[in-house]
Amino acid sequence: MYLKRLEITGFKSFADRTELEFVPGITAVVGPNGSGKSNISDAIRWVLGEQSAKSLRGAKMEDIIFSGSDSRKPLNFCEVSLTLDNTDQQLKIDFSEITVTRRVYRSGESEYYINRQSCRLRDIVELFMDTGVGKEAYSVIGQGRIEEILSTRSEDRRGLFEEAAGIVKYKARKKEAVKK
Ligand code: ATP
Ligand code: MG
Repeated sequence: MYLKRLEITGFKSFADRTELEFVPGITAVVGPNGSGKSNISDAIRWVLGEQSAKSLRGAKMEDIIFSGSDSRKPLNFCEVSLTLDNTDQQLKIDFSEITVTRRVYRSGESEYYINRQSCRLRDIVELFMDTGVGKEAYSVIGQGRIEEILSTRSEDRRGLFEEAAGIVKYKARKKEAVKK
């Protein structure tokens, strides 16, 4: 499984629809300060279900929608689609390519899709649980996360091992069951 494509429309500095194609191996994104490099990783975490505006470097969720420039009006919604190659069937869904999409309007209304079919946020979260993909998983490691991994506190490192061992799903189900 690998990241194949990212389509960004109206997200932060990406006013126009922008398509990024990735190939297996290492991709480095370079550019001047403020050119939108971190906005790309924000887009990845957002489409994987990030709900915290603060962790996307904003004050409220609306801040991720293109806010306009001298020559362009602000947009009313933003959309990000992330496509993964799944020919190895690592994700338990019978498709060789999986596209997850998230759209949000200024009104706050959100929409989620898996392969263009409308779904709930929790379907996306569950699809990626225990796979290493996901907003909190080890496939997206921000600067702060590195400190957590190097931390001497075992509790800090435990979450990472639980995800790698594939038991997060069972813990989540247990928590749900106990609640009911
Ligand atoms: P650095 O090298 O300093 O880390 P970077 O390439 O990571 O820079 P980003 O943080 O990705 O840069 O991009 C910051 C830019 O995105 C700023 O110019 C900011 O104005 C712009 N930006 C953020 N949110 C929005 C928004 N909602 N609408 C328009 N532009 C936005
Ligand atoms: Mg940056």
